[in-house]
Amino acid sequence: MTDFAATRAMFDLPVGVAYLDGNSLGPMARKVPDRVQRAIREEWGEGLIASWNDAGWMALPDRLGDRIAPLIGVSPGTVTTGDTLSIKVYQALAAGLALKPGRRTILSDSGNFPTDLYMVEGLIRTLDRGHRLKTPPPEEVADHLSEDVAILMLTEVDYRTGRRHDMADLVARARALGIVTIWDVAHSAGALPVDAARTSVDFVVGCTYKFLNSGPGGPAFIHVREGLADRIEPALAGWLGHAAPFDFDTAYRPADAVRRLRVGTPPVLQMAALDAAMDVWDIASIHDVRARALELSERLIAGVEAACPGLALASPREGARRGSQVSFRHPRGYAVMQALIARGVVGDFRAPDILRFGITPLYLGEAEIDRCVATLAEVLDRRLWDDPAYAARAAVT
Ligand SMILES: *Cc1c(COP(=O)(O)O)cnc(C)c1O
Repeated sequence: MTDFAATRAMFDLPVGVAYLDGNSLGPMARKVPDRVQRAIREEWGEGLIASWNDAGWMALPDRLGDRIAPLIGVSPGTVTTGDTLSIKVYQALAAGLALKPGRRTILSDSGNFPTDLYMVEGLIRTLDRGHRLKTPPPEEVADHLSEDVAILMLTEVDYRTGRRHDMADLVARARALGIVTIWDVAHSAGALPVDAARTSVDFVVGCTYKFLNSGPGGPAFIHVREGLADRIEPALAGWLGHAAPFDFDTAYRPADAVRRLRVGTPPVLQMAALDAAMDVWDIASIHDVRARALELSERLIAGVEAACPGLALASPREGARRGSQVSFRHPRGYAVMQALIARGVVGDFRAPDILRFGITPLYLGEAEIDRCVATLAEVLDRRLWDDPAYAARAAVT
């Protein structure tokens, strides 16, 4: 059983803050500053260019991929890190479409994160071959699977409501129809077990700055199913995805397997932060994290429903159908969240009316959940949100 007191001790959170926003930006692990400082002072400052070899900088993207692999249920050597999630989505889409030249439909859902959908639309315009994007409501995706669909691309957990797709079921149905599958685990990786190898999903993409706590601008990751990776042609054929980058050959030859989805120079300092943040998984089990998150989520839902009649649950009530966040609706949601944050309980807001709370047992327990409920009740009962200071929207909500 995971010792959650020990995992909590690995994070450095400001005193007096109940942080329920780790689904958006994970907090800093205590080891991160030293690890990044070492990368700056010793590896860069003293080692200079030799550190590409001596400090293992060039191997970082794949080494970190190997650390992420168990959390998404895949073997080492099938995940690489780098770039941002938007780029990894684009790479998976372009590779997937090339595998299905006769099919014209890309199926996603209307709740997907906008950048994933923008990437589809941009690629469709670039290819100019008559592809189209279909985005039915999430509950109806299965009804739209057909042999005209080239790619099914879904984000497992909805970033606003926390609604969770049934991965095993949807991927199996899609595979039976010869559809390429892309699974975005931005809100799953580090929050709940993802069984990617067993479901035989073709591509898994995700980011590390949410539940994996790599810090702002941390790298994304991509997994390609074993057996498929050697068949795909990278659309972004970068020099570091070449079989022999330092041959400086003008003819592109892809590297083995998932390594061909590396593009350019890795963000070494961000990767040092991710490396330190991943140490918590040496003592934490993702299965225990999931079980504890469900307990804490139930506690939050029950507490809010008892104490805050003005809030409506926006997340599925059934735990298995939810990711690791709980959302509520309120017509003045933005101001309510600002009032809450001013009182040391940090969640966030998503337009038009969603209050989001990330449930992250690595560093959150019952005390923070209870404080969140009590503070929310006070803000609503006393209309503390009704203050002009809480109405002006900042650029990042
Ligand atoms: C957070 C998130 C992103 C962010 O993409 P970046 O390129 O890393 O900014 C993309 N897709 C989903 C589903 C997300 O939740």
